[in-house]
Amino acid sequence: MNSWCYTLVYDVIVIGSGPAGLTSALYCGRALLKTLVIAGTMPGGQLMLTTEVENFPGFEQPILGPDLIQRTRKQAERFGAEFMQENAIHVDFKIHPFKINTDGKTYESNAVIIATGASAKWLGLDSETRLRGKGVSSCATCDGFFFRGKDTVTVGGGDVALEDTMFLTKFVNHATIIHRRDALRASKILQDRALKNPKISFVWDSVVEEVLGEQKVDGVRVKNVKTGKQDVLRCDGVFVAIGHQPNTAIFEGQIELDQKGYAVTRQGTATSTEGVFACGDVRDFHYRQAVTAAGDGCRAAMDAEDYLEEKGDRAR
Ligand code: NAP
Repeated sequence: MNSWCYTLVYDVIVIGSGPAGLTSALYCGRALLKTLVIAGTMPGGQLMLTTEVENFPGFEQPILGPDLIQRTRKQAERFGAEFMQENAIHVDFKIHPFKINTDGKTYESNAVIIATGASAKWLGLDSETRLRGKGVSSCATCDGFFFRGKDTVTVGGGDVALEDTMFLTKFVNHATIIHRRDALRASKILQDRALKNPKISFVWDSVVEEVLGEQKVDGVRVKNVKTGKQDVLRCDGVFVAIGHQPNTAIFEGQIELDQKGYAVTRQGTATSTEGVFACGDVRDFHYRQAVTAAGDGCRAAMDAEDYLEEKGDRAR
């Protein structure tokens, strides 16, 4: 008996389903590319952790992060993108077509768009986890507006901690930066601005040991690492700005990553591996906005389409 096995090869597999991944899927679908999104078992990315999004163009009234994700996904599905709610656990970009493994399944494609995003680093306190979304946030641009006239603390001493805190001063009564050392990591220019800002004060050599509050944040317990002395600082919001971790572990050895693990891209969204593109927070540590990620997803889709056209590798 003559038996043979047919494996479907997609034009494009998008890994990740935040605004970058969904927008790239929408553009790929609309370009009539056979597109699969490996969306993850917890799809949607960081917007799923956000409440109201007020700065995504086109929405006069705030839209909930999960609603924005759901709508964009439906838009991508309308153009034929398929979705698998599975985690990519292994990739092989050294063979063609590319292979992507999820738990128990293998998918193949002629091009790949990596849109796995980045995750905010957290302090790792139980109280921080419990009060996330109830005053604890990792995104001042997203949530700063909700702290109008209130007091906040920011944890961290890098560029993001200082930029975020200066942004917060547009809204808040007072902002305190708590840093674990007595010298900031941030660039000199940001340091100068923050140190001169009358709405910002600093607590040096100190770490947050507990976020206080039952239903919402009402303070932090802080320990001075040099003296061991503990204090309670009253506040309404805690912004954790201690860095982000790009979600690139499965791409190690498959594409070039920088020292911090971000995907390195050249000429638009092309990675070091021909046919593999990266977009959104997985390659961008600077802007990190839903709208910039969405725009980047569009670019990756167009780059992937150009690549497939040049190779004559389209399935239809
Ligand atoms: P970062 O530069 O890595 O700074 C992280 C900060 O958090 C550091 O001050 C670090 O303390 C502190 N930290 C780390 N883990 C901590 C912990 N467990 N507990 C308490 N504090 C902790 O990260 P980032 O500020 O997110 O910036 C990321 C990258 O984006 C950087 O390369 C930055 O230059 C760049 N960026 C640039 C701009 C700009 O140029 N305008 C704006 C935004 C971001 P230590 O200092 O003691 O290590």
